[in-house]
Amino acid sequence: MSRTFTRAELEAYLDEALSPADMVAIEAALRKQPELMRRLAEINQGLSGGSHTLAEIWRRHRITCPTRQHLGSYLLGAVPDERADYIRFHLQEIGCRYCQANLADLQRQQEENSAVASSRRRKYFDTSAGYLPRDR
Ligand SMILES: [Zn+2]
Repeated sequence: MSRTFTRAELEAYLDEALSPADMVAIEAALRKQPELMRRLAEINQGLSGGSHTLAEIWRRHRITCPTRQHLGSYLLGAVPDERADYIRFHLQEIGCRYCQANLADLQRQQEENSAVASSRRRKYFDTSAGYLPRDR
């Protein structure tokens, strides 16, 4: 049940001229809809003055941060292309330090986990190899 926002609403959002409830609604939608973020970026580019860059807005609100779960899936290459693009954009173009740190932390964890898992797996095979049924 994602609602569609008008251009006027998105412009007001960029100007922080919406009511808190509407701001929250848009932020929630932005997290779920990468295409809405693209619309917002286009509108921001078109706005004269450009009083603030999107990156500033993003950093200020941290609105578009992927969840830690999404970052983890991204690391594993287990997210749809569109979301992967968006996360890459968020990390590299926006340069979100919060998510970069989160990602680095997840990366370290995954490396540790896979090291543990593979040594466990090796032990399991070493000890159980002799007990596997021969014909099936
Ligand atoms: Zn972020």
